[in-house]
Amino acid sequence: MEWFTFQSSTESSNNKHHNELYAEKLPVKQLAEQYGTPLFVYSRRALETNFQAYHQAMADWPHLICYAVKANSNLAVLNVLARQGAGFDIVSVGELERVIAAGGDTGKVVFSGVAKQRHEIRRALEVGVHCFNIESEQELERIQEEALSMNKVARISLRVNPDVDAQTHPYISTGLKDNKFGIDIDRAPDVYARAAELSHIEIVGVDCHIGSQLTTTEPFIDALDRLLMLMDKLKTKGITLKHLDIGGGLGIQYQDETIPSPSDYLVTVKEHLVQRGYGDLTLMVEPGRSIAAQAGIMLTRVELIKPAAEKKFAIVDAAMNDLLRPSIYSAWHTIVNTVERPDIESHQYDVVGPVCESGDFLGKDRPLTVLEGDLLAVYSAGAYGFVMSSNYNSRNRAAEIMVDGDQAYVVRQRETIEEQFASERLLPEA
Ligand SMILES: *Cc1c(COP(=O)(O)O)cnc(C)c1O
Repeated sequence: MEWFTFQSSTESSNNKHHNELYAEKLPVKQLAEQYGTPLFVYSRRALETNFQAYHQAMADWPHLICYAVKANSNLAVLNVLARQGAGFDIVSVGELERVIAAGGDTGKVVFSGVAKQRHEIRRALEVGVHCFNIESEQELERIQEEALSMNKVARISLRVNPDVDAQTHPYISTGLKDNKFGIDIDRAPDVYARAAELSHIEIVGVDCHIGSQLTTTEPFIDALDRLLMLMDKLKTKGITLKHLDIGGGLGIQYQDETIPSPSDYLVTVKEHLVQRGYGDLTLMVEPGRSIAAQAGIMLTRVELIKPAAEKKFAIVDAAMNDLLRPSIYSAWHTIVNTVERPDIESHQYDVVGPVCESGDFLGKDRPLTVLEGDLLAVYSAGAYGFVMSSNYNSRNRAAEIMVDGDQAYVVRQRETIEEQFASERLLPEA
């Protein structure tokens, strides 16, 4: 990863040279000492570069990149992306308010999600989102009712379920017929026809999102072809669309996966659009993970080394409540010692947290050269990291730092114990 690199240490206490991990131009050791651990560290340059990879890939095409807020919704992250011209894909009114608070343009927001509540729909209409990605026929009627009552026109796109297998983890696969997401592509023409009849609905597009952490482009292209077939059908009914949104889902390299770049992927998409006569269609994407994941690491301190009968444990101060992905998806994150230790022996460790669950691990059977008190870095933690954290075991949620060159900014303070239960109340006495 380009923004988190090992560099020769400038200060060497014992005159020995050693390499240590930097975030952009700052040694992470310094960040951990200053702000404590566990600590999420983001790189501004990484976020910008990853966003620009999409932007460049579509520079010759009318497009809108709607960053999926759920991947990392920190206000500073949203703000950095908004300054790059990003739009946003949201799934709740909470995310909408975050976009607004971060200075995002509500006119570039798409509102996805299988059960948008009436108050959420009203707020989105009030601030004028780019469109609603409609996930059911019932929702279409609900949005018509709310738009009518507010005397506004709701721009809509149907999120269709193209029934393709994204070949990813079942929990993050969303484009198969038996998933709860989207409208069956075979039903879509009728739903568009119904939408066309409604007084306060304007049809603007079509979208799909087939899953996350995809490692090949084939499922995307299969889905695209099905969407284009649908558009051909709609054209014969006099319904033309302004945009096509192919969702997010491009994977990242956690371990040894080879992943197509946004450019590889989008070149193919654009070729298909030209071949099929849709050269003037606005192209939209909703990337989350591929923008944020590699822009962040999580730092954690080794509390204890515990040599058990079968294996060694490195017990660290971060846990499943801080980074849930290993526990729920058996996800693999690279874990490194932030200071290279050529002088000691490497062993296999399970890197585990202090939470009272056997599922509380960050990595299993990892070769590490590590001593008690060392600082470890868990890579690829910028997406679906902090946002999935909780207070399980009454642990404070971690702090978040954004590095910009040789500057570090606290973008979320470490939670305190008082904050954890500030909104809880006792029953009255007697
Ligand atoms: C989660 C989600 C995304 C982003 O997915 P990534 O795999 O993080 O790129 C995009 N669109 C929708 C509708 C989503 O639910």
